[in-house]
Amino acid sequence: MSLNNQGRSTSPGNARTTGLATISGDHGLDHEEKLIFELGHGAIGVDLPDVKVPDDRLGGLCRKKAVGLPGLSEPEAVRHYVRLSRKNYAIDAGLYPLGSCTMKHNPRLNEKMARLPGFGDLHPLAPAVATQGALALIAELMRWLTTLTGMPAVAMSPKAGAHGELCGLLAIRAALETRGEGHRKRILVPESAHGTNPATAAFAGFTVDEVPAKPDGHVDADALEAKLGPDVAAIMLTNPNTCGLFEPRVKEMADAVHAAGGYFYCDGANFNAIAGKVRPGDLGIDAMHINLHKTFSTPHGGGGPGAGPVVLSERLAPFAPLPLLLHDASGFRLVEHPEEAPAGAKPFGRMCAFHGQMGMFSRSLSYMLSHGRDGVRQASEDAVLSANYILASLKDVMSAPFGDGPCMHEALFDDSFLEGTGVTTLDYAKAMIDEGYHPMTMYFPLVVHGAMLIEPTESESKESLDRFIHVLRELALEAKAGKTERFGGAPRLAPRRRLDETLAARKPVLRWKPAPLRDAAE
Ligand SMILES: *Cc1c(COP(=O)(O)O)cnc(C)c1O
Repeated sequence: MSLNNQGRSTSPGNARTTGLATISGDHGLDHEEKLIFELGHGAIGVDLPDVKVPDDRLGGLCRKKAVGLPGLSEPEAVRHYVRLSRKNYAIDAGLYPLGSCTMKHNPRLNEKMARLPGFGDLHPLAPAVATQGALALIAELMRWLTTLTGMPAVAMSPKAGAHGELCGLLAIRAALETRGEGHRKRILVPESAHGTNPATAAFAGFTVDEVPAKPDGHVDADALEAKLGPDVAAIMLTNPNTCGLFEPRVKEMADAVHAAGGYFYCDGANFNAIAGKVRPGDLGIDAMHINLHKTFSTPHGGGGPGAGPVVLSERLAPFAPLPLLLHDASGFRLVEHPEEAPAGAKPFGRMCAFHGQMGMFSRSLSYMLSHGRDGVRQASEDAVLSANYILASLKDVMSAPFGDGPCMHEALFDDSFLEGTGVTTLDYAKAMIDEGYHPMTMYFPLVVHGAMLIEPTESESKESLDRFIHVLRELALEAKAGKTERFGGAPRLAPRRRLDETLAARKPVLRWKPAPLRDAAE
């Protein structure tokens, strides 16, 4: 294999790696891109008449030096940002195999709906009489979420999965305190859990007790049950779990924690493997966040804010945070203060200033309505099918720690197929960059050595999966055949090679310091 899927040579002997340096440092059609401040040369894109400042009207506080803004013409500014955007790998550029991220495609219809002025231009302080349509949209989304999960209530305001975890645990704490059992402080968290789970439990004032995983990737239900006791507040389980497996004993664990007087928090980040197929309420779950940016197609990360509504069981519903959305003869209204709450409601407080991420609500409802219940179910089935296709197509050359599958929506590999090759998970992932692919999730979950978690999602065609599989197979075969030259130095075709990510995280350089400013008078 010597060409990647953009037609560029990936063999170690190509021009860039044999030291054929260019004068500019640019390569191919890619410019080495400087900061906009370094590009600026003082010009501006418009002609303005000279300012004739009469007298100093600022009492001697007039600026004496240039302000130091980058000065570029319009085409230069446009080119700068377009060139930067081309350095991003994005779902709109190709397959994005990151695991534990779930669906990635953002349907354009969502964007159109979210920009309708009646939704997009609303101010969060607009009175309810003027926002009945938007409130009806939230209520309709709540109906979808409670129906799909089989849970009676949902808190809409949390703004991400982790924020939803906090919301769920605060509801659990309020319920325990109301029962006079505020002394229950221990939360059982499997060692395969996402890092946010123990972090949230600790942040909410609980102590974390780790539950081991079994060699088959499932949570050790017997160990979990043995740990239950009168000081246990809750268990926090992910289902399907972070190894991409459905927990077969989930109902039994739910019954056990309930019998021990605790609650069942479920991390719902992987709900898109089972949406429309399994109702979490039927599994005995008391609280579960739903990452709208994972399961219901709203943008991730830099593409837009997350949203993490939390569905609640009958026992936790009264403690849902403010604001509450109610409907009566006069229409929809928001309850913003505890004293206005209806009888029986004991909101534990509030998670944020307003009612949540309206822009994400309109996008996810748009997705749900365009797919319908059967379409949501099919998206889950297709996500699981794609992951199983990858697992089945790669397990003879890579190594799947939990056997032949089937898996849910993610295919998990470990690094034992690289043993003795000198190539690590990191090297293998970096070589994927030269092949035109973003790496998969690496070294997570922690229970698997050198983990590689691949989540192709429902939106990839068979052709796209086949191309990806072909690249991963070839890379694995090259590593095993001792052709390891390309791995150590990868990526060779990216604007940068390997960065010191630890240093960048620990000592980020966040400020650009200008060269000494020239005196404005010069
Ligand atoms: C993504 C994820 C979270 C956290 O969700 P955010 O929306 O990123 O805060 C928690 N648990 C699992 C398993 C996840 O994949």
